[in-house]
Amino acid sequence: MTIDIIATLAAIVGTDHVIAPGPGMATYISEPRRRFHQTAAAVVRPGTVAEVQAIARWANEHGIGLIPQGGNTGLVGAQVPLRGDEVIVSLPRLDRVRSVDPAAGTITVEAGAILEHVHAAAEAEGMMFPLWLASQGSARIGGLLSSNAGGVNVLAYGNARELTMGVEAVLADGRLYQGLNALKKDNTGYDLKDLLVGAEGTLGIITAATLKLFPQPEDHETALVNVASPARAVELFQLLRERLGGRLTAFELVPALGLDMQLRHGMLDRDPTAGPSPWYALVEFSRMSGGDPGTLASAIEAAFTAALIDNAVLAESLADRTRMWAFREQMSEVQSKEGASVKHDVSVPVAAIPALIEQGSAAAEALAPGIRPVPFGHVGDGNIHFNFSQPVGADGKTFMAQFDEALHEAIYDVVLRLGGSVSAEHGIGQLKVDLLKRVKDPVALEMMRAIKAALDPKGILNPGKMLG
Ligand SMILES: Cc1cc2nc3c(=O)[nH]c(=O)nc-3n(C[C@H](O)[C@H](O)[C@H](O)COP(=O)(O)OP(=O)(O)OC[C@H]3O[C@@H](n4cnc5c(N)ncnc54)[C@H](O)[C@@H]3O)c2cc1C
Repeated sequence: MTIDIIATLAAIVGTDHVIAPGPGMATYISEPRRRFHQTAAAVVRPGTVAEVQAIARWANEHGIGLIPQGGNTGLVGAQVPLRGDEVIVSLPRLDRVRSVDPAAGTITVEAGAILEHVHAAAEAEGMMFPLWLASQGSARIGGLLSSNAGGVNVLAYGNARELTMGVEAVLADGRLYQGLNALKKDNTGYDLKDLLVGAEGTLGIITAATLKLFPQPEDHETALVNVASPARAVELFQLLRERLGGRLTAFELVPALGLDMQLRHGMLDRDPTAGPSPWYALVEFSRMSGGDPGTLASAIEAAFTAALIDNAVLAESLADRTRMWAFREQMSEVQSKEGASVKHDVSVPVAAIPALIEQGSAAAEALAPGIRPVPFGHVGDGNIHFNFSQPVGADGKTFMAQFDEALHEAIYDVVLRLGGSVSAEHGIGQLKVDLLKRVKDPVALEMMRAIKAALDPKGILNPGKMLG
């Protein structure tokens, strides 16, 4: 069977672009957090849309599972095998920029294009594609759209779904959905683009997308503000939002422990903050051409006057700005240097963030005394990466065996009580299949299953993911 699969795929894409089980597929079957380990029947790397269609037609006919894969940076195990008999369809060879239209503010790119390359293509035309996340050097458009990625600019520009105007996708039976329109207004029925975006590869294989571009800001004004508590951070967010409107393009919260950890591990060449504080808010204002310099400084001055804050530092150079952003972006990485950690990508209404952090931290401390809460993230989106590092000196394996599941339960209980979501931006994949079944509205689950059955009746696209 394996030989047949390899030979058939080689006949479609050429022998150089098929990988058989063995060491050659290692990078395709292991994912960033190394939680899921399973081989695949093959990895196939199509170079044209027609090849993707031929692969789907063949797989559908023989009932073979296909797993679309982009940069393999997803954090919920959606892009790696579950059973071991699936074929990974790796899209990096489909990476062309098909067209850029600065006047219309659109770019059409293929699914395998790396996000950073899309940024560069937009910038070359004096425009900006604002999806911005730490994995942008490896994550690819098909994967970003399929996981409806967020990142640090959602506050002003929206997530991947809001940045997508149209998609082209191969369906389970090999038909091509030609949805690459660039229309702002199109009321001709169901929004199929919105269905494919965020579907985690379970409804179609995206081959290209038309994305929204924006004018590049002339400059960024960036600051790290000392805040006494998450409640103060939310008040500061409201004040800055009132004064800066949609030009407030980032508002990120980081706890003091994050700074201590990064300085201790030599990840920052110097402390980027204005001095000790229990929490820090990284705020950014994007100034358009003709806007007044110093706008963020005067908004922060208003926060001082309102006694909301008592210290802040403004970036005075690109190096300062880069260091401030590194401080925020290195939060995940630094935790891996501090032993075992338990992570939650959750969202609640913005006003409920202080309650989430307070109640979640108390529940975790009651379970595992000495545990170190490290909540950080996107305050403006209500999206907190509610992570916990093991107590100092604890044995990581024992800590995980004892507390991993119980901590998840405790945090998701708080999130659901506060009207939040158990997956803000990373998705469901393999990681949260059982959780989704438990917490999602039953009617919503029935609708999702009906859509899946209609578009992929044999269940060949990313089997077992999301809906189980
Ligand atoms: C350091 C780091 C930081 C991150 N920060 C963020 C963040 O701030 N915000 C955020 O939202 N995510 C973040 N992520 C998660 C990850 O980068 C995103 O989920 C990204 O969108 C995945 O893109 P990818 O190309 O790697 O997709 P993959 O991991 O390859 O795949 C992800 C999903 O998309 C599907 N897929 C891939 N290509 C296609 C296609 N062409 N058609 C259909 N389905 C497809 C896969 O089957 C899978 O379900 C981060 C990850 C890392 C490692």
